[in-house]
Parts: sequence; C-alpha cells; structure tokens
Amino acid sequence: MSLKPLDILTKYYGYTNFRRGQEDIINSIINRNDVLAIMPTGGGKSICYQVPALLLDGITLVISPLISLMKDQVDALKTMGINATYINSSLSSSEFNEILENIKNNEYKIIYVAPERLDSYEFINLIKDKNVSQIAVDEAHCVSQWGHDFRISYTKIYSFIEKLLNRPVVTAFTATASQEVRKDIIASLRLLNPDIYITGFNRENLYINIVKSSSKNKYIIDYLENHKKENGIIYAATRKDVEKIYEGLYKRGYSVSKYHAGLSQEERKINQEDFINDKVNIIVATNAFGMGIDKPNIRWVIHYNMPQSIENYYQEIGRAGRDNQKSECILLFSPGDIHIQQYLIDISIDNNKRKLFQHEKLQQMKDLIYSNDCYRKSILSYFGETLLEECNNCSNCLTEGEIIDKTLDAQKVISCIYRMKKSYGVNIIVDVLIGSKNKKLLDFGFDELSTYGIMKEYSNENLKIFINTLVSHGYLELVKNIGYNGTYPTVKLNDLSMKVLKGEVEVKFKETIISKSL
Ligand code: ADP
Repeated sequence: MSLKPLDILTKYYGYTNFRRGQEDIINSIINRNDVLAIMPTGGGKSICYQVPALLLDGITLVISPLISLMKDQVDALKTMGINATYINSSLSSSEFNEILENIKNNEYKIIYVAPERLDSYEFINLIKDKNVSQIAVDEAHCVSQWGHDFRISYTKIYSFIEKLLNRPVVTAFTATASQEVRKDIIASLRLLNPDIYITGFNRENLYINIVKSSSKNKYIIDYLENHKKENGIIYAATRKDVEKIYEGLYKRGYSVSKYHAGLSQEERKINQEDFINDKVNIIVATNAFGMGIDKPNIRWVIHYNMPQSIENYYQEIGRAGRDNQKSECILLFSPGDIHIQQYLIDISIDNNKRKLFQHEKLQQMKDLIYSNDCYRKSILSYFGETLLEECNNCSNCLTEGEIIDKTLDAQKVISCIYRMKKSYGVNIIVDVLIGSKNKKLLDFGFDELSTYGIMKEYSNENLKIFINTLVSHGYLELVKNIGYNGTYPTVKLNDLSMKVLKGEVEVKFKETIISKSL
C-alpha cells in the first residue's frame, strides 16, 4: 500500500501530528494543484513541501534565498535518510560538477537551489529534461517589490520554470500576508489557479504584551532581573539604539551580543552564532537579525521601539517560543517611536507610492497599539485568519479595567477639529485643547475658539494617546499629506465622528488604556 502524508511525517520526521493547515497544503500539492501558503515564521513550512517531495515521483527543487541555512536543511534531510543536496555560490566548481553528475544519475529527491543559480547554463540544460515534480519557492515574497526583501533573481523564476520540459506543480511559501504581495507572487510565478492557505498565524504560547512606557530602559533592566538565564532578543529601530542598549547591558554584566547591518559580516556571523549556540543569552538587534533563525528556546522578545508594520512585528515576535513553551513578547511603546519610524520610512524610500504604502502599514501598526480589543484577534484578522474568542493571553485581555464612557471627551475633540475648519496634525489639535500659547496656534487665532483649553485636565501626552485611540477605533481619520520634508499626517472627521458629535454613537474605552499609559 502506498504511503500517506502522515506515514511520511512519522517515518521520517518522527512527529505524530500535523500542525494546522499542513495536511491540507500537502494534499493540494500531491493532487498537483499549485499552492500559495502563507504561514508565519516557524509555522512549519518546510514539511509542507518536503512531505510531497517524498510522495511525488521525481525531483523537488526548493528555491530559497537563505544560503546559510541550505546546508543545515540538507544535512537534516540526509540524517533522515532522504537524498538531498544544495546548489549555491558556496560550492567550488568541482563540488558543483559532482552534484551535476549525481543529478544526471537521478540520485536526489530534493535539491535546494539559490535563485541566482537558476541562471546556470549547465544546471538548466541538465534539469530541463529531468522529471521535476515540484518547484517549491520559499520566502516567495522576495518576488514582490512590496515585500521587504525584494530580490531581482526571484523575478526570473518563472522563465526558469518555462524552460522545463514538463511544468511541475509550483508551490510558494511566505510569511508575508499582505494582499499586494500575495497578488505579486501569483502573478510573478504565474501560479495556475492556486489553492491559497493562510494558516497557523495563531501562536497561542506567545503572551502579547504591549506596554505604553516612557521608561523603557528601566523596564528592560527590571525584566531581565526577573528573567535571568532565559534567552531573548531585544529589537531596536536604529543601529544607534542597538549600540546604546548593548553597551548598557554589557556594562551591567549581562551575557549579551549585538547585531545590525553596520557590523562587519564576520562580526555579525559570530554574534549570531554565539546567540544560537547559547554562548550568550541576549541579543540586541535591528530587524536585520532573525530571518531564518530557528532557535527553539527563545523565551522573550522585547521591542524597544514600535516596528514598522504588523508583518514585521509578528515575524519578529514569532522567533520566540518555537519550542511551543510559554514565551513573552513585550512591545515598549512611546509616541516618539512613531516619529522615528516615519523618519526611517522617509529617508529609506524614494518612490512616493511606496512611501505612502509603508506609512499606511505603520498606521495599521499604530492602530493595533492603540486598540483596546484583543491584540491576538486584531493581528490574526489582519492576516486573514479569524479567532472566534478573545485570547486571554494578551495585555488587552488580561488588563483589568472598567469600561468607561469617553463620549463627552470625544465630542470635545471632534468639535474642536470641526471648529479648526481645516485638517491639522495631532500636535496642534492637542495644543488648542489644552490651551497652549504656541505661536503658530495664536497666529491662526485658535485661542479664540470656544474649544480652546477645554481639555486642560489632560497632559499633552495623554491627550495625544486619547486622540490616537479615537483614530485607531475609527472615530477620527488620518490623512497622509506629502510635504517638502516627507509625509505628514493630519486628522480629519468622518461619518462616525459626526455621529459621535450628535450623540448618536457612544465612545467607550477600557479605563486603563487612557489612565495607566505613560
Ligand atoms: P518555517 O520554515 O515555517 O519557518 P520550519 O519548517 O523550519 O518553519 O518549522 C519550524 C519548526 O517546527 C521545525 O523545528 C520543525 O521541525 C517543526 N515542525 C514543523 N511541523 C511540525 C509538526 N507537524 N509537528 C512537530 N513539529 C513540527
């Protein structure tokens, strides 16, 4: 009797159950349907293409940009008794020739190929007549200019597939779930009516803790004191912050390493390996760190700054708890983070359309932070997955706090914006409401508005948070404007704002969201 997917999983990998989504994906592939699978980092993508590789006749080519991980993957397969190899720029020409010879003799079931190598004339010539049953494109978001890791070599995958005598089933895997990237993958690889799976985004073992804090360094030190010997990552937005945090911890005697694009390749490699091999237990890094990291025992991830998008955030916290043990993900947020990220977007992206797109992503991240709904539910819904119940494992679910009626305060804000007539930035609206003597405000004559100074009881920061909370719940809208110095957002009223103003809709928030912050 022929083997079933579960038999393969048990026989080769020693696992007894598939994770959510894996079996459906595998079944699609063995029925020769193209697949686009969107699974988070650590979700178990490899098994989704490796198990079909063993069930289908012929060879599976896995296209992956992660050269440094290919050897590990292939070694792991070999230990399981699966004939596999890899082709990338690390091979000498004699090693390459030997592999070609072996391919000629049909010795491999799975071949990992770096996308640049698909250009190799010898390789194409040899493989085109072979029985290639599956092309699995890992990190498929690299085909998309919207993704964060666009690679030109990925755009040539389709022309490689075209050269094969028979079209294999083409499968694409990524952790990036945005609509734009999804469309680009399907178009660029010309997937044929693919089965699309969005699955496994829920990582129940991760406690999602978003802390609105202005004393981040103290928070980190206190946390580390209570979590000695545990492994964790601290992500910061800039190299400068990475260095600063690293120095601070190093001086205090913590076992810590650092990682960012400003370090030499050699230093990055050593630092990463020290962390992976438990020589140090903390790594402070920019988001340059982590792609393809499969370290099981990361107990916590701390974000020193808000990340640029929900994708980035979820990918980064996804590095915690790969062993399924309880792990904590703490995002330390202060409103200044928004400016840092806006600045980074403005200086790193030239194209205006892309810039606005990235600002939009940042806004979604900000809305998440200011939301008082279950964080996990909001994140999963962003990725297209539905969580029916509240998770009870995020700081919004677990923070106690009475629901309080903020309708009156919301009306004050809305009526002030209404009276200011045009769309202004949050800062000046706050200044008017708390009655500041800011010159710009006086020049505009806003001190004569009836709403001038009507929210004096709020601190500047808390009122900013309140207005942003109104935005994240849709009671106000942000519009992006492009100016001389990059983009800047202004606040606008919408239908819901008018309903609040007329008393047709009530605004209720959990007390802690507003009073405990900062
Ligand atoms: P991804 O490529 O999606 O980041 P991997 O394929 O590397 O994730 O899988 C992450 C980890 O989960 C690996 O250690 C893998 O062996 C493990 N894993 C995958 N599927 C299962 C399963 N069904 N049961 C148990 N462990 C699994």
